[in-house]
Amino acid sequence: MKGYGMIAVDQPGWIEKEKPVAGPLDAIVRPIAVAPCSSDTHALHGGIGERTNLILGHEAVGEIVEVGELVTRFKAGDKVVVACTTPDWLQPAVQGKYNAHDNGAMQSFKFLGSKDGVMAEYFHVNQADANLVLLPEGMKPEAALMTVDMMSTGFHATELAEVEYGDSVVVIGIGPVGLMAVAGAQLKGAGRIMVVGTRPNCVKIAKEYGATDVISYKDGDIVGQVMTLVPGGVDKVIIAGGNQETFAQAVSMAKAGGVIANVNFFDPTDVLTMPAYLWGLGMANKDIRGGFCPGGALRIEKLLNIVKYGRVDTTKLITHTFHGFESMEEAFKLMDEKPSDLIKPVVLID
Ligand code: NDP
Ligand code: ZN
Repeated sequence: MKGYGMIAVDQPGWIEKEKPVAGPLDAIVRPIAVAPCSSDTHALHGGIGERTNLILGHEAVGEIVEVGELVTRFKAGDKVVVACTTPDWLQPAVQGKYNAHDNGAMQSFKFLGSKDGVMAEYFHVNQADANLVLLPEGMKPEAALMTVDMMSTGFHATELAEVEYGDSVVVIGIGPVGLMAVAGAQLKGAGRIMVVGTRPNCVKIAKEYGATDVISYKDGDIVGQVMTLVPGGVDKVIIAGGNQETFAQAVSMAKAGGVIANVNFFDPTDVLTMPAYLWGLGMANKDIRGGFCPGGALRIEKLLNIVKYGRVDTTKLITHTFHGFESMEEAFKLMDEKPSDLIKPVVLID
């Protein structure tokens, strides 16, 4: 079969592979909608180390073509939403608070992490019963597709930050992940939601999702800008973009007792430093957290409910739609080039 990915670091292209085989608990799925992600392009450029002949992509809605003999909830022909994080649910580590680390940090992220991704004619899903959800009747595949990573990750940022009624929240970065964090913070009842970003369509959608104030990192120090709006600092800071400098800025703009929640993918070479006084000399109860997109059928089912009942319109994230399997190449290249009007590209395959 054919798939699109990285032949080597900085070398994207089509790759020929054997069609994957389902183990007893697994499923083989044919994609009907996929979306490249900034994490795929990050991987292409060496963000997950030296990798060769790796099919990329981890956001998919598809049709099951084969299930293992122990799969009970699904059968060939079912249309399914595929969580991008697919833990091995037999590992005790997933029984704790976070399921993204079944065999060590981020090891539940199998696509890209330990096997080929979804931008292929067929892809493998481990433990199908626990990692797949039926596409809700009447829901557009692309609307469901935005839940598997963008919404799950953006909402996870608001879970890590423990956003509560009336909180003042800063969301640094309003790409698709940050935008979903804005929508999640709004649903959780935040009071003031300040966002950091500049691209006009992202700013527009951030406001539609609930942002009350917009700050540009191009207009100088973002900490000063936040402190002018909320003297003393804010309750919660979410990092969904930026660079290694962003970390100290986020800690600085949180008030004593506040929470800093990171879902940004820092570079392996980044060094995160912070003068101790920004962290209240270690005594200001500023909690610093960072997490990875959780998986699980139950979680995706709940996120799909939010979409189904009109609480969040995830299709606002989709700025570019491609048709046909072959157009994965063009969609991926667009994600890599990141023109300023791009939020999420989607490929629909009949
Ligand atoms: P984008 O690249 O689309 O968005 C980045 C945002 O950060 C933009 O709004 C951009 O502003 C803003 N930004 C850029 N530079 C700065 C700066 N110096 N200071 C403040 N803001 C800045 O990213 P995505 O939404 O696709 O993803 C966000 C991050 O989340 C990525 O690192 C991605 O890899 C990661 N990720 C993590 C996951 C997890 O499970 N933890 C899962 C999925 C993604 P502008 O409007 O000017 O472009
Ligand atoms: Zn992703």
